[in-house]
Amino acid sequence: MTEPMTPEGRRAALDAIAKEIRACTQCPLHSARTQAVPGTGRPDAEIMFIGEAPGYHEDQQGLPFVGASGKYLTELLAMIGLTRNDVFITNVVKCRPPGNRDPLPTEIDTCVQAYLYRQIEIIRPRIIATLGRFSMALFFPPNARISKIHGEPNHADGRIYYPLFHPAAVLRNLNLRPAMEEDFKRMLTLLKEIEQSGDEGEDEPPLKQLSLF
Ligand code: URA
Repeated sequence: MTEPMTPEGRRAALDAIAKEIRACTQCPLHSARTQAVPGTGRPDAEIMFIGEAPGYHEDQQGLPFVGASGKYLTELLAMIGLTRNDVFITNVVKCRPPGNRDPLPTEIDTCVQAYLYRQIEIIRPRIIATLGRFSMALFFPPNARISKIHGEPNHADGRIYYPLFHPAAVLRNLNLRPAMEEDFKRMLTLLKEIEQSGDEGEDEPPLKQLSLF
């Protein structure tokens, strides 16, 4: 069992990873980026949101979810009484795919092994909320469909994996909005349940990628 780090220790470790990400040349996405987007938020966040990849505005600013879908994400957080500073927000891949194309499997694999899984190990969130199918695919079986499993928590590794629609998908299809809002509200209930269960989540085993099922 490894001791949980202090918030300061976690911040320093996350800053060190962010520095690596900004200098990363491990996959072809680095050559077209303006800025890499490591992620932002509390180093000891209870909820970690994982989106797909930076878009135009994120690439310009070096921050995740700052465009239209980010504005909506911020609104959803406010609806449940949270701000972006209360959670940690990042993406599966840290550099913008040219023209916002889908990230390739090799780009995803390189980036998550190098950075995302290390960020998760440091933050140790109680809930990992996946935003969209690329993030969902890291933690749920290959045949999982977001339209079926959104809002259904999966308890594993001492935490909850919680699949959500991507905010951009909801902005494109406003019929999804009530479901997205219900799913967000449920996250608070889940958090309370874990806290009340007395499980501090500190002796969780190392993240076992792709072996959750
Ligand atoms: N979409 C994402 O998946 N991530 C961002 O940071 C912005 C838009």
